[in-house]
Amino acid sequence: MNIFQNTEVAFKIKSNYDLKRALWLFRIISYGFIVRIGNKLIPAAIKIGFPIAWIVKPTVFKHFCGGENLNECKPVVEKLGTARVKSILDYSVEGGEDDAKIEVAFQETLKSIGFAGINPNIPFAVFKPTAFIRSYALEALSIGGVSDAETLNEGLKFRERVEALCKKASECNLPILIDAEDSFYQPFIDSVVMEMMSKFNRQRAIVFNTYQMYRWDRLGILKENFRHASENDFFLGAKFVRGAYMERERERARQRKYPDPIQPDKESTDRDYDEALKFSVENIDRISVFNGTHNEASSFFLMELMKQKGLKPDDSRIWFSQLYGMSDHISFNLALHGYNVAKYVPYGPVKHVLPYLLRRVEENSSVSGQTGRELAFIVKELKRRKQQKTSI
Ligand SMILES: Cc1cc2nc3c(=O)[nH]c(=O)nc-3n(C[C@H](O)[C@H](O)[C@H](O)COP(=O)(O)OP(=O)(O)OC[C@H]3O[C@@H](n4cnc5c(N)ncnc54)[C@H](O)[C@@H]3O)c2cc1C
Repeated sequence: MNIFQNTEVAFKIKSNYDLKRALWLFRIISYGFIVRIGNKLIPAAIKIGFPIAWIVKPTVFKHFCGGENLNECKPVVEKLGTARVKSILDYSVEGGEDDAKIEVAFQETLKSIGFAGINPNIPFAVFKPTAFIRSYALEALSIGGVSDAETLNEGLKFRERVEALCKKASECNLPILIDAEDSFYQPFIDSVVMEMMSKFNRQRAIVFNTYQMYRWDRLGILKENFRHASENDFFLGAKFVRGAYMERERERARQRKYPDPIQPDKESTDRDYDEALKFSVENIDRISVFNGTHNEASSFFLMELMKQKGLKPDDSRIWFSQLYGMSDHISFNLALHGYNVAKYVPYGPVKHVLPYLLRRVEENSSVSGQTGRELAFIVKELKRRKQQKTSI
């Protein structure tokens, strides 16, 4: 039986009111034109200082975010924990373009690591590397051959910040995930993260890099990183995702006339995703796996690989993860069957997490895709609850 079909388990911690609110929300965002208007109006409203938190906070924000600060996230973390679903608190502020913003994001991320370190329901810390460096410098350092002092200094400060975060995580014995970004930023991030792995992953995987399998070169990079880790005797932390920036990657490559970094089609992405999971489970003594996906087949596939290899569902080297507010049918059913599951729970001031929220809304705006699935599960559960009530 497909374990993900059990909606009673999936929505166990949701009240009827929660489910109806989610149903309303997903129905609204399934109207493409509302999303398109909102995507234009909301950033414009923020720019002119028009207050929008009163409408965003109790609706989209409440559904997809844990709160505006760490303390506000506590009830969410505890509630998920009652169903054996852990949380990863993600300070979702994007793009650090000035020193003051970078420092705020850095201090908050340090705080979130300390907060997670003493909470058994928070098994990982996480950060978005673009929060800690100006984009022009990250791009230039990724191309290579930089000689101007200012850009080199930016790179040095970035490296110091990343090292401080990894060190703090290591002191808390807490694995830390480093998100993947656009391909033109990734070479410098990858080189810094590999250096951190070789420093902090001597006993087990503390530092995790992210592999976006919609890129045709990532399977080769994974194997190359594995070889390097084996030769230098450290553990590889590998978070797998398909990748979030496909359209803009393709568009940029087309405009600037360089080879598209993205796979030719979805089948190729899926094939490499499976292959990366397979390779990692085969080499589980060296690679720890973090499976960040809403795809049922990828989740099943990893469960099968674990079975074949004779690994217990709660093997500490393998984690499954979905975003908060999405795909509860995967998270809660996996947790019930004993697998390690953690939700990415974004948090931060409403105004600052808006780019994250707009991305979630946009990705959920196609009825044929994610929203269709979410809606179908919510409707099925509400029906089940109604039938149960009438038969009592
Ligand atoms: C816990 C978690 C953490 C995440 N962290 C990151 C991160 O650090 N960086 C990041 O970039 N994303 C991240 N994501 C988002 C992720 O990359 C995907 O965008 C999202 O999860 C959808 O992919 P899927 O595997 O869930 O599902 P699916 O619905 O099976 O796959 C959709 C994905 O397939 C790929 N795809 C679709 N069409 C094509 C095509 N024509 N050709 C090639 N590929 C195609 C795209 O990547 C698309 O997003 C994260 C997601 C989760 C759940």
